[in-house]
Amino acid sequence: MLFPIEMTSRIAGYVMKKKMSRAKKYPMVLMLEPLHACNLTCTGCGRIREYESTIKQKLSIQECLDAVDECGSPVVSICGGEPMIYPGIGELVAKILERKKVVYLCTNGMFIRKKIADFKPSNRFFFNVHLDGMRKSHDIAVERDGVFDLAIDGIKVAKEAGFLVCTNTTVFSETSMAELDELFAYLTGLEVDGFMLSPGYDYDAVKVKEIFLTRDSIKEKFRAAEAMFRKYKFNTSPIYLEFLQGKRELECTAWATPTRNIKGWKGPCYLITDEHHATFDDLLTKTPWEKYGPGKDPRCEHCMMHVGFETTAAVGVSTKLGDTFKMIKWQFT
Ligand code: SF4
Repeated sequence: MLFPIEMTSRIAGYVMKKKMSRAKKYPMVLMLEPLHACNLTCTGCGRIREYESTIKQKLSIQECLDAVDECGSPVVSICGGEPMIYPGIGELVAKILERKKVVYLCTNGMFIRKKIADFKPSNRFFFNVHLDGMRKSHDIAVERDGVFDLAIDGIKVAKEAGFLVCTNTTVFSETSMAELDELFAYLTGLEVDGFMLSPGYDYDAVKVKEIFLTRDSIKEKFRAAEAMFRKYKFNTSPIYLEFLQGKRELECTAWATPTRNIKGWKGPCYLITDEHHATFDDLLTKTPWEKYGPGKDPRCEHCMMHVGFETTAAVGVSTKLGDTFKMIKWQFT
């Protein structure tokens, strides 16, 4: 099984309920950013640049839990910033798990050893460790030597303590897919539970533009790595992968992956900011969704990020005959 059965059945039950209620737009994954502060300055990160003026501010634990309840998505991805430096991160994770959610804690992995005692293993909780390549490439991407080794140490500590661990990799123009093959083989040896992969997004705030891929070069890179996708346990769905390889089109469903941060509900999506809304309902109902997506907004032109397209098929948009079978087969990989 790719994911724990309790996790899959909770998500499937939620989707079925939404479909039966004929809801048109509903959230699948809440991107919760309790803070934007980080101990690193990764080259491709838009957050530490866009939110520089509020970098010292944090949501309280209660504000985070209110956002979880207000949104109602079955999955909560705690990101940032570096959420492991958020005071009370263990308590926050425990309280979201009490609400029967699936939690991904996105981290650079450097503080797992120090903070592991703040968490309890659960089949609905993953440490999601950022790794963009093997030692040399990853340390260049995060602009500090030694980060890869600390992240790997964190993965080993978490696995030994019985936690689920996945990794999250962003593909840039200089990313070597052969090196990622080596990385995933290495992580498979460490019994990592799954790999997430997404092309990078060209944030306005990031000044080094040449690191980002165009839509055509994303397709080319992901097509060329076909064999790699059959070898390892990817959390990336087969439908999203077909999209990345240019084998099908998907509509952007950014409304399924809302972002809540210190300024409010970020609209329209995790990547671009036109407005911060006071409530989740405002984000959902007041955003002109029809104006976003490739071919509609120039900022969306080269976006193929998971936050826009990974959940598209799951919420029943852009589906084809046979998609359900593909998704079930993937789950039982
Ligand atoms: S295509 Fe990408 S940038 Fe545009 S709205 Fe969707 S997720 Fe955001």
